[in-house]
Amino acid sequence: MIFFTAVTLYFYLPLTILMVETDKQILAGEEEKKLILREYRSLLRALKHRLKKGDKRLVRRAFEIAADAHKDMRRKSGEPYIFHPLAVAKIVVEEIGLGVTSVICALLHDTVEDTEVTLNEIEMEFGSSCAKIVEGLTKISNVVETQNTTQQAENFRKILLTLADDPRVILIKIADRLHNMRTMDSMRRDKQLKIASETTFLYAPLAMRLGLYEIKSELEDLSMKYTEIDVFEEITQKLSDTKRERTRYINEFIKPIKEELERNNLDFDIYGRPKSIHSIWHKIKTKHVTFEEVYDLFAIRIILRTSNEKEDCWKVFSIITNYYQHSVERLRDWVSTPKSNGYEALHTTVMGPGGRWVEVQIRTERMNEIAEKGLAAHWKYKDGSSGQESKLDDWLKHIKELLQNPDSNAMDFIQDLKKDILGDEIYVYTPHGDMRILPTGSTSLDFAFDIHSELGKHCIGAKVNYKLVPISHELKNADQIEIITSKKQKPTSDWLNMVVTAKAKSRIKYYLKEEKRVIAADGKEMLIRKLDAIKVAYTIDTINELVNYYKYPSALDLFYAIAIHSIELKELSKFNIIGNRLEAPHDLEKKLPVKEEYAIDLAKQMPSKGYELVLFGESSDKVKYTLAPCCQPIPGDDVFGFVTSGEGLKIHRTNCPNASTLLANYGHRVIKAKWAKNKEISFLTGVKINGIDDVGIINKITNVVSGELKMNMRSMSIDSADGLFEGTIMVFVNHKVELDDLCTRLESLEGVNKVLRLDME
Ligand code: MN
Repeated sequence: MIFFTAVTLYFYLPLTILMVETDKQILAGEEEKKLILREYRSLLRALKHRLKKGDKRLVRRAFEIAADAHKDMRRKSGEPYIFHPLAVAKIVVEEIGLGVTSVICALLHDTVEDTEVTLNEIEMEFGSSCAKIVEGLTKISNVVETQNTTQQAENFRKILLTLADDPRVILIKIADRLHNMRTMDSMRRDKQLKIASETTFLYAPLAMRLGLYEIKSELEDLSMKYTEIDVFEEITQKLSDTKRERTRYINEFIKPIKEELERNNLDFDIYGRPKSIHSIWHKIKTKHVTFEEVYDLFAIRIILRTSNEKEDCWKVFSIITNYYQHSVERLRDWVSTPKSNGYEALHTTVMGPGGRWVEVQIRTERMNEIAEKGLAAHWKYKDGSSGQESKLDDWLKHIKELLQNPDSNAMDFIQDLKKDILGDEIYVYTPHGDMRILPTGSTSLDFAFDIHSELGKHCIGAKVNYKLVPISHELKNADQIEIITSKKQKPTSDWLNMVVTAKAKSRIKYYLKEEKRVIAADGKEMLIRKLDAIKVAYTIDTINELVNYYKYPSALDLFYAIAIHSIELKELSKFNIIGNRLEAPHDLEKKLPVKEEYAIDLAKQMPSKGYELVLFGESSDKVKYTLAPCCQPIPGDDVFGFVTSGEGLKIHRTNCPNASTLLANYGHRVIKAKWAKNKEISFLTGVKINGIDDVGIINKITNVVSGELKMNMRSMSIDSADGLFEGTIMVFVNHKVELDDLCTRLESLEGVNKVLRLDME
C-alpha cells in the first residue's frame, strides 16, 4: 500500500521541510530534484531500445520506490543517495548490457538493507525473480560489514554461489562496486583502503573471469589510485606527457595496414588505445623495466564487420604480418578455441617502425561486444551457433561443485578457489582427446585429481606428450596427459605444494586428515595407558590442560604429536598430580593459545573511529607495534596498522604485497597509522639493482652509497652472469626521501639499468 503514495510523498515532502529553511536551500532543493530527474531520464534513454510494453511503468515504479525510500539519506559526498542506485542502474545497462529486470534490481539494490522496504513488497510489485536478485544483493552486502574473518570468507563463498545461481546478482554487485570506487574520494582513508583491497582481491578478478575486461581494468586502476598514490600519479603524468608522441607513432603504424585492408574491401575500424595504468605498473614491477622500456604501452585494435568471421580475422592477420614481422611466441588464437569466459579474438605482437613491439588485437564486432560486456553479451547471442554458453555453463557448474565441498578452513579454501576459478587457464587433453580446462600452473597431479580423486590419490607420475614426467610437472597449453598410478601410492603433505587447483588441495587435505586420525588414535591409546599408570583420570579437563600447555589447536593434534613422539610421555612427570587431576607446571609461563578472539580483543582496545596511531620507530609507549618483515616500512611510506593474532600490532605499507589480502579479509583489524617527525631512529631497507656488468661498477655503487650520500650500508650482494649483474643493497635510512634519493642517484650511474625498492618476499 505504501507504494501508491510514493510519488506524492517524494515530490512534496522535501519541499515542505525546506520551507522553513533559507531561500538558498530551497533553490538547492529544487535544483537537486531537477538533477535527479535528469539522471532518471538519461537512464530511460539508455534503456530505450530494450523497453517492451509495460516495462517503462515498472522502471518508473522502481525509481519512485527507491527515491522515496532513500529520500532522507545522503552519500558521504553530500549528494542525495538516490544518485547512487541511478548510477548503478546506468552502468548495468550501458557498460554491462543487461536489461530491464536488472535495471529494476539495481535501482532497488540498497533499499531492503538500508530502508523500510521489504522483499515481500518487491516480490508483490515486480515478481519473484526481482525479489530473488535483490535478496542476493542484500545478503552479500550484509556480510561485507562483518567483523569476523571466517564470515568474510563465507561471504566470498556466498558471492560465488549467487554467481552460479543467477549471474545477474554478481553483475549488479560489480556495477555497484564500480560506482563506489569511482566516487570514493570523500571516504575515510581506512575505508578506502579496505574497499580498494577487496576490489583487487575479488571483484577485479571476477570481472575478468566474467569477461568484463573494460570494467576489470578500471577497477584495477581505481584501486591503484588509493593504494599506490605516488605510482599512480607518476604513470598518469607520464602517459599524458607522451600522448602526442604515441599518437604520431600509432598513426604511422596504422597507415599502410589501413590502406591494404581497404584495398581488400574489408569493413573495419582500426585504432590504438593505451594499456591500463595497472597493467603498465605490473610490467614495470615484474619485468624490472622502466616506464620508457614497457614496449607495448598501447595495443592496436581492429574491429571487423563481417559474417565470415574466422576467415576474415586470419586474413587481417596475414595482411599485418606482410608489413610487420610478428613474434611467434606471442600469437594467441582465441578464435579457434575461445577462453572459457567466452573471450574470442586473435592477438599478435609485431615489430613496428623503429623496432618497437606493438600488440595487435583482431576481433569482429560480435567478438568485441563479448569482450566488453562479457556474460551479458552471451545471453544475447544465445541462439547463435557458437556453442559458447555451454562452456560458460560448464564453468558455472564447476564453481557450484567446488563450493559444495565443505572445508573446515573457509579462508584457505577461498584462497585456493580464487586461484582456481579467477586465474588464467590452460587447455589440456586426455589420451582420448577430451579437453580439460585447468588454471595456469596446474601440474600432472592436478590433472589426475581433476579426472578422478582415486586417480589422483594413487598417481606416481605421468606421460606428457609421451614423455615420462614427475607428478609435480607443470602442464602447458595443449599438453596431452596420461596418468600413471600405483596401488601402493598415497598422498603426503608435500603434495599440497605440488597442486594449484582447489579440488586437488581439498582432496589431499582430506586424505591427510584421515591418515592423521588413524595415527592420532594410537597416540590417544598411549596417553590413556600412561595416565592410567600415574593414576590420573582421562577426562576432558585433563586433555584441555595438556592441549593448553603444549599450545595445540585441538585434541587431535595433541594425540598425533604423542603418536609421532614430538611429545614424549615421560614429560608428564613435570606435571603436578592433585588427586586424580593433572596440573601444568607453574615454572614456565603459560601463554594464551593463539586465537582469532585475542586479535579482535586487541583491536577493540584501540579507540576505533578516526583513531590514528602515531608511529615513532620500533615501538612507542602507548601501543606496542613492530614493522612487518614482508614490506619493511620506513618513515614517509603510506602505512596502516594491522592487529595480528599473537604478535600484536604490525605496520605494513599500503602497497605491501600482502596488503590486499589483509585488508580485504581482515578489514576490521586495520588501524590507521602515520609517522611522527623523528630524525633519530634509522630503519633497515633495501634496493634491487641491475645493469651491465662493468669493471668498477661495484666501486661506483659503494661510492654513491657510502661516499656521496653517507649512508650506513649493512650489506651488499651482487651476482653477475652473461655480462649483466643483479644485486641487493641493504641500507639504514631515516626517511623515505633518503631511499628515493638513493634510487635516483644509483639509476643515473652509467651501466645501471633499474633500481627498485625491495619487497622482502
Ligand atoms: Mn550500493
